Amino acid sequence: MEKYQVLLYYKYVKIEDPEAYANEHLEFCNDLGLKGRILIAEEGINGTVSGTVEQTNKYVEAMHHDPRFSDMVFKIDEADGHAFKKMKVRARPELVTLRLEDDVDPNQTTGKYLEPKEFYEALKDENTVVLDARNDYEYDLGHFRGAIRPDIETFRELPDWVRENKDKLEGKRVITYCTGGIRCEKFSGFLLKEGFDDVAQLHGGIVTYGKDPEVKGELWDGQLYVFDERIAVPVNKKEHVVVGKDYYDGTPCERYVNCADPDCNKKILCSEENEHKYMRSCSHECRVSPRNRYIIEHNLSPEAVQERLDKIEQENSVKA
Ligand SMILES: [Zn+2]
Repeated sequence: MEKYQVLLYYKYVKIEDPEAYANEHLEFCNDLGLKGRILIAEEGINGTVSGTVEQTNKYVEAMHHDPRFSDMVFKIDEADGHAFKKMKVRARPELVTLRLEDDVDPNQTTGKYLEPKEFYEALKDENTVVLDARNDYEYDLGHFRGAIRPDIETFRELPDWVRENKDKLEGKRVITYCTGGIRCEKFSGFLLKEGFDDVAQLHGGIVTYGKDPEVKGELWDGQLYVFDERIAVPVNKKEHVVVGKDYYDGTPCERYVNCADPDCNKKILCSEENEHKYMRSCSHECRVSPRNRYIIEHNLSPEAVQERLDKIEQENSVKA
């Protein structure tokens, strides 16, 4: 069987004419046979791509020949196949959507970089608060032990969350982490601009932490949410503590599905059994949506739907 790799990478560096570069880069990736998602902005590049070992190695080599990306770090995961269905390269105003009124250039302002071992030590320090810079559904699948969970659904809500929760961070050393490090580059810079003076970030993100031969992902609980078809990948090589909880019954669970109502699409952790029982929907409103994908996929008659709705209602009344 042919071996595949998934590459995760970013670089904050000036790119002239992101539109033109995106078009040219898409052609290049298609020629190589890669699949994945790449964002190009004036401030840099952010990508995840999959391909055979040969294809991905060729890509890394070609990128390192470009002076803009000559020192770009690639995090490499082994895989059994592609992690994406298509190859997309898009030009965007920002690499990570923060929409700050006063934008941060991580090459000018960013938190101190902590290597995995330093971060591991910081996790155990009482005067340090560790702030997860990711979204709530990412945290819920897995996170560093003791880390703060900002209840945000998108990254651009994080600055407001910080302003509303200053008391949780003030007077402490603040350390942030995210999947591969790109969000923290900007977010830690934002924290500095907000007046926090002791700010650090996990260099290379959770992915690098999990690969570090010394820390071996220790003090990470659960799994890492990733934005490709794998959805969840392991981090802690020493022990696996499940922190995810089934949305419907609270039992340990690490299986994500999307709410079947396309207008909702909320990520729900649930067992296969509960997926069927609740028609993969997060609420009654989503279950009765005329566009409910579960009902369409399973060809459920109105009577069959009603039967399940009655069953759910019956159980809820027993619980109450
Ligand atoms: Zn829903």
